[in-house]
Amino acid sequence: MNTILVAAAVQDGRLKRSTFEVMARAREVAAETGSEVVAAVLHPTARDLAPDLMRHGAVRVYVVEDPVFDRHVNVPVIDALERVVKAALPRLVVAPSTEAFKDVMGALAVRLGAGALPDVSEFGVDGDSVVAVRPVMAAKMLARVSSREPLVLVSVRSGSYEASASPVEGEIVPVDFSCDAGTLRQTLREVLSSGDGEVDLSEARVVVAAGRGIRDEAGRDLVLELADATGAAIGASRAVVETGLFPATAQIGQTGKVVAPDLYFAVGISGAIQHVAGMVNSRVIVAINKDPDAPIFDYATYGIVGDAFKVLPPLIEALRDAGKT
Ligand SMILES: Cc1cc2nc3c(=O)[nH]c(=O)nc-3n(C[C@H](O)[C@H](O)[C@H](O)COP(=O)(O)OP(=O)(O)OC[C@H]3O[C@@H](n4cnc5c(N)ncnc54)[C@H](O)[C@@H]3O)c2cc1C
Repeated sequence: MNTILVAAAVQDGRLKRSTFEVMARAREVAAETGSEVVAAVLHPTARDLAPDLMRHGAVRVYVVEDPVFDRHVNVPVIDALERVVKAALPRLVVAPSTEAFKDVMGALAVRLGAGALPDVSEFGVDGDSVVAVRPVMAAKMLARVSSREPLVLVSVRSGSYEASASPVEGEIVPVDFSCDAGTLRQTLREVLSSGDGEVDLSEARVVVAAGRGIRDEAGRDLVLELADATGAAIGASRAVVETGLFPATAQIGQTGKVVAPDLYFAVGISGAIQHVAGMVNSRVIVAINKDPDAPIFDYATYGIVGDAFKVLPPLIEALRDAGKT
């Protein structure tokens, strides 16, 4: 039987939602190919995370526990994943396309002599090939890619699949690993976080994104209120980031973050292709723009043509009222 290994993504001691999205697709591929789904988790207390992976269909969870995994440092991650792969002998290793996995994927593929299909939005197995679809050129085009290597690594964009549980009686497999942090040539000295307590943009179910149309601090306050009313993470176009109203970490698009929430509000955003590249996979897109010909309406599920300064106050009030009931 072939094995599909899902490398879990962990943030702040919790499995990221994108891990469960990848697990859901891995189960489908496993059913189509008569394979089994196993998972790997690297964390100082990885064992605690195993039950959640079993709830999503992992028949074995390879746990690698070491304090070094508290923060991402690539060399121990590559070493540990190499060990897991050698123990699990998978046909396919799949992981959410996080910054951390992107950081190790190339080196891991070289180390294992594996094929690599990075940042895909679909994947599967066709005969003796692993096949995938990868958005390219700011998501204007989709490339069909495949690999016939006996081992293939795939990283999957967040939001590409719907997470769903499928509990199994799994087994925990501890993997021997130790790392002398003193011998590492790389240390992570500090993580500068711009948004303590804010909703994480790349994992958010709802995103409120502001564009140049919000104009000034008063517009920004309305956007923050809308985000508060909907429990949303806050995003921004590059044009509005450049005005200084929002931090660069909020930028969504080709040169910013890629998000795929259930609900995306685009407020005063024209819909330039470089912005759309970062949000086009959102499930429901609500665009608010005073220009009826703005390209963002080509992507919107719901469009509100109007001045954001007039549209937002009653919308926020209605959402707050709805939240109370
Ligand atoms: C190499 C490269 C990479 C790039 N990467 C990115 C990227 O990652 N992310 C990104 O966002 N951009 C990126 N850009 C920039 C991109 O091309 C656009 O310039 C940018 O997305 C425009 O931002 P915007 O929609 O906020 O502003 P604008 O294009 O100026 O649009 C503002 C919109 O607000 C509307 N508006 C104005 N007033 C109101 C109002 N009162 N109420 C409602 N609507 C109103 C207008 O009708 C207009 O549609 C990149 C560009 C290049 C060349």
